[in-house]
Amino acid sequence: MPLLDNPVGVEDLILLEPLTQESLLKNLQLRFESKEIYTYIGSVVVSVNPYQQLPIYGPEFINKYRDCTFFELKPHIYALANVAYQSLRDQDRDQCILITGESGAGKTEASKLVMSYVAAVCGKGEQVNSVKEQLLQSNPVLEAFGNAKTIRNNNSSRFGKYMDIEFDFKGVPLGGVVTNYLLEKSRVVKQLKGERNFHIFHQLLAGADTQLLKALKLERDPSSYAYLNADVSEVGGMDDASNFRTVQNAMAVIGFSEEEIRQVLEVTALVLKLGNVELASEFQANGVSASGIREGPGIQEIGELVGLNSKELERALCARTMETAKEKVVTALNVIQAQYARDALAKNIYNRLFNWIVNRINESIKVGTGEKKKVMGVLDIYGFEILQDNSFEQFVINYCNEKLQQVFIEITLKEEQEEYAREGIPWRKVDYFDNGIICNLIEHNQRGILAMLDEECLRPGVVSDSTFLAKLNQLFSKHDHYESKVTQNAQRQYDHTMGLSCFRISHYAGKVTYNVASFIDKNNDLLFRDLSQVMWKAQHTLLRSLFPEGDPKQASLKRPPTAGAQFKSSVAILMKNLYAKNPNYIRCIKPNENQQRGQFSWELVATQSQYLGLLENVRVRRAGYAYRQVYGLFLERYRMLSRSTWPSWKEGDRAGVKKVLEDLAVASEEVAFGKTKIFIRSPRTLFFLEEQRRLKI
Ligand code: ADP
Ligand code: MG
Repeated sequence: MPLLDNPVGVEDLILLEPLTQESLLKNLQLRFESKEIYTYIGSVVVSVNPYQQLPIYGPEFINKYRDCTFFELKPHIYALANVAYQSLRDQDRDQCILITGESGAGKTEASKLVMSYVAAVCGKGEQVNSVKEQLLQSNPVLEAFGNAKTIRNNNSSRFGKYMDIEFDFKGVPLGGVVTNYLLEKSRVVKQLKGERNFHIFHQLLAGADTQLLKALKLERDPSSYAYLNADVSEVGGMDDASNFRTVQNAMAVIGFSEEEIRQVLEVTALVLKLGNVELASEFQANGVSASGIREGPGIQEIGELVGLNSKELERALCARTMETAKEKVVTALNVIQAQYARDALAKNIYNRLFNWIVNRINESIKVGTGEKKKVMGVLDIYGFEILQDNSFEQFVINYCNEKLQQVFIEITLKEEQEEYAREGIPWRKVDYFDNGIICNLIEHNQRGILAMLDEECLRPGVVSDSTFLAKLNQLFSKHDHYESKVTQNAQRQYDHTMGLSCFRISHYAGKVTYNVASFIDKNNDLLFRDLSQVMWKAQHTLLRSLFPEGDPKQASLKRPPTAGAQFKSSVAILMKNLYAKNPNYIRCIKPNENQQRGQFSWELVATQSQYLGLLENVRVRRAGYAYRQVYGLFLERYRMLSRSTWPSWKEGDRAGVKKVLEDLAVASEEVAFGKTKIFIRSPRTLFFLEEQRRLKI
């Protein structure tokens, strides 16, 4: 029996004795050091990024896992994917795989392992293979446009992704739907030192042949572009040029026409070229500071590239038209404002292009309605984030994580308790923290922080981030999970770490201090109408389709939903989707900050373990039963272990199971007999049964 003094630690953290944060980390470390990167907590897979290729993947391993039950082989993502797929196929239960962890922890790799496992085991035949191919090829395309090199991860996803894979009643794949969340569009115009813009820009410059570059009016050298960090144009181990061909090919496989691919690249080129549009100060006769575009070929080329009037673009970048019911007022923008408008335009174009690509992929892979489908959802989404400075983005990301924690609590814990009740099994209720109160603080329709932010954004008059904060302070001064300088002062707490423009939320995973600077702006997410009108007037089919609101006939003054409201509603749809499915968890951990193999930073893993709630997870699991199975199936597997003459199970499956367990002298407190299922408390017992079975075969 594996214990902690075992050099590779225990395979299931439920077996830890004693169970402490210390022993849990020690166990992960021991396993990591022996290249055992996967560990269970019951049916949850904890994965520690090895930062090296381990020989545990591919067809041979897939075949091993597909024929085995969960506890038979070493912990693996394949085992989880196998259970999920089999219960989808055989028990008709829709599944979802929830993958969480911080940037660089291995979420996207894990999601690809799940997808490739499922693709390998489900259905055969030419048509099925082409469906699988389309599903798998969506990855390189989404990664090219949605991933970038960051300090933490050379291939970091800068968007959240949920993919439903749909199957027919036999478990043969039919297609899927991708949903994307919150692309980090600020990266389009600015990257931190040592980071890059989205891969596609670099791939395009490195991989396009001379003719294509010329057609796109681009220079090969990344240092020609203001929006690219030229000092990190290359990433070790990444071949941009060859990836460019992979992406083009993947787009073709998915079903993008040649024309569509060309248009996508033209819009990508447009974004790069916009960054080079230089704005300069001009002074108008009346002394107002205005701006204009510096002479140069850039703006003409933009006009030619996408068929728009460059004079109109210049006007729209440098002035703003305000329309009231009666009149139009044109105000000149100063240089700072014009640069802001240019960058806002570039971010908007790119963000909309990305959404368009996701929709286009969905058009190809979606399945006709009407058919009854079985669904496996795979969620690869940013984990809980606490950075040095936390802004609107961290706020919504952490909100999403609160909601996912709620799914975990509701489905895993509540459903578990309900199952015990259904099966008539006595069960001691475990106390756990219900984070509903924090979700409410953020999302309440009238009184939540997001609602307050929207209210502030829509309110006429002078609004600012500080009026927003003042409102929060007033409303939540007594809230247990809310703090700010004002509420602290009222309680005579003097905390130097809290800035004046900050509020702090006690999330389930820890306290996070958010700076309200630019919350209003980011939530508003407005693009001046002048710009969307110019875009809509372009002759470029794709570009103009991205700006439907630029159509003067559409000129309703109704504003689009705010960024916060959009995010909230897409999270609500996601939750509804997840609640309808059986969840399977993969918790990813990053062992060090250097993307290095073999390094295990205790501190770093400790923090992540806390954010992921691993210890609590083990505690809850230990209070319940690690394993349950209907009597018939259990008996089928383990009847061979009984000393009684086989096969004389006349008294039914339940009695048979009882006999097997008695013969093996399994302690009575280890098992519980439900109405239809046998429950086994510890995975230790299950490992024992499997071991016995192996010895017999
Ligand atoms: P995340 O999506 O959580 O940000 P990724 O899945 O992109 O992280 O992983 C970051 C990098 O770590 C990958 O590019 C890869 O180099 C490495 N990596 C992650 N998981 C594995 C694995 N199972 N085996 C080998 N390398 C891995
Ligand atoms: Mg990722």
